[in-house]
Amino acid sequence: MKTVNIDDVYVRLQVRHPYMSDKQKAIAQKVRDAEHVVEQIKRHVDDVFDVEVVREYKGTCSHCGSRWTEDDPNYNGGCCHEDQDQYELSIKQGVTQ
Ligand SMILES: [Zn+2]
Repeated sequence: MKTVNIDDVYVRLQVRHPYMSDKQKAIAQKVRDAEHVVEQIKRHVDDVFDVEVVREYKGTCSHCGSRWTEDDPNYNGGCCHEDQDQYELSIKQGVTQ
């Protein structure tokens, strides 16, 4: 039988996501804001063992931008025509995993 106990405790802090139409610029601003918060915590907060900026990544289809849902790095289950066509071409060429 599995027993679940608290293994660790930490604070998860997220900075506000700036409103910008350019997502890459918004992410860059969010990184700068997060780095600023890290500096301020290190400077002003006692009893902090570690604080760092953590980046989370997600895979998307290079053709249509859909979230990557498959384990296969070359085929996203046919999320779009391009994904499906590329997969079928790889089968014809014998380039499957
Ligand atoms: Zn796609």
